[in-house]
Amino acid sequence: MRTKVAIIGSGPSGLLLGQLLSNAGIDNIIVDRSSREHILARVRAGVLEEGMVSLLDKAGVGERMHREGLPHEGFSLAFDGRDHRIDLFDLTGGKRVMVYGQTEVTLDLIERRERDGGVTVYEASEVTPAGFDGDHPYVTYQKEGVTHRIDCDYIAGCDGFHGASRKAVPADAIKTFEKIYPFGWLGILAEVPPVNHELIYANHPRGFALCSMRSNTRSRYYVQCSLDDKVEMWSDDRFWDELRRRLPTHHAQALVTGPSFEKSIAPLRSFVAEPMRFGRLFLVGDAAHIVPPTGAKGLNLAASDVFYLLSGLLEHYQDKSKAGLDAYSERALRRVWKAVRFSWSMTTLMHRFPDTGDFGQKIQEAELDYLTQSRAASTAMAENYVGLPY
Ligand SMILES: Cc1cc2nc3c(=O)[nH]c(=O)nc-3n(C[C@H](O)[C@H](O)[C@H](O)COP(=O)(O)OP(=O)(O)OC[C@H]3O[C@@H](n4cnc5c(N)ncnc54)[C@H](O)[C@@H]3O)c2cc1C
Repeated sequence: MRTKVAIIGSGPSGLLLGQLLSNAGIDNIIVDRSSREHILARVRAGVLEEGMVSLLDKAGVGERMHREGLPHEGFSLAFDGRDHRIDLFDLTGGKRVMVYGQTEVTLDLIERRERDGGVTVYEASEVTPAGFDGDHPYVTYQKEGVTHRIDCDYIAGCDGFHGASRKAVPADAIKTFEKIYPFGWLGILAEVPPVNHELIYANHPRGFALCSMRSNTRSRYYVQCSLDDKVEMWSDDRFWDELRRRLPTHHAQALVTGPSFEKSIAPLRSFVAEPMRFGRLFLVGDAAHIVPPTGAKGLNLAASDVFYLLSGLLEHYQDKSKAGLDAYSERALRRVWKAVRFSWSMTTLMHRFPDTGDFGQKIQEAELDYLTQSRAASTAMAENYVGLPY
């Protein structure tokens, strides 16, 4: 097989890049190790920045998002028994975020690709990018016992943190930066109305909690948990009790509970690989960086990477200039590091660390109190939360 851009990974970054390339008449093939069903069953992020909303519109998949998604103009910080609303719309001069699940984004992109006749190979094993240090890159994979090869101009490594793309880069060509946090997030999905019409990020001496949602009838809630915890240790009753204890009383009393239909524990980590380009291989999204979900940046960073890579590829194919591709890694990383900083700082402000102690708790509460009184501090948080421009 031959294509212009071989894309490894059919997550949001691979699908979005593939659709935007196809719309521009640049052919591409996506190869993923998972099945279509598995990809569509993954429950992950749910808060989209305006930059990502625009890209989904540009890709031609925004119709259902605008119909079913929930535009939010603020969120709450809860601490010390009270809560304070960060008015995103007012503080940022009219910006919002869109609450719309990653699962739905993925479904919209997959269905559009199928309608357009785009090629996606699912359940491919041993996917391997090669030849990217020269002029003839290619991707090989196994399917039903047969080895296949895709020759291409460029390879986009959109295969997430555990994918094959970053691993194919020689160790001495890549530098990684990592911070592992000493706790995880236990998340549940339940068919109950959200406790609040906007998200609540709660700081509590027992640990962080987040009240989020996927729709007006479906809630996504999280509590900070130990890395040693197993999902089986958390019955629904235990989860709801713990969540109530971490929320201010008026929210705890308003909480509607019900059976969960998804429950999982995710560890938290910050990770960046530099650079994000190796010859004709480009790392995109989680393949190059991971952030803790506090601040909802992971999925949105995948979108900004796609924007920069798409610009470079369009410049190359339409204007015969390699300047955009040459600038990709530097442009993407400048934005990545700012989002890594914001996610780290919001995680540090809101969570109970082993060394937080009573002193640390008071410092966190003082910083949160300062945020409620300082428009400048609230504006800095709001600007980062809605997403820095790209
Ligand atoms: C459990 C979890 C919860 C999260 N919650 C949030 C959240 O609340 N908010 C937020 O902003 N972000 C969250 N994130 C992060 C967000 O989901 C990611 O940033 C986003 O999915 C990145 O998209 P991606 O396309 O780059 O990578 P992925 O979504 O990881 O997609 C990678 C794709 O590559 C495929 N693949 C992997 N390895 C190979 C291989 N060797 N060969 C071929 N294909 C391969 C995978 O099957 C997958 O389809 C969460 C992530 C996880 C894992």
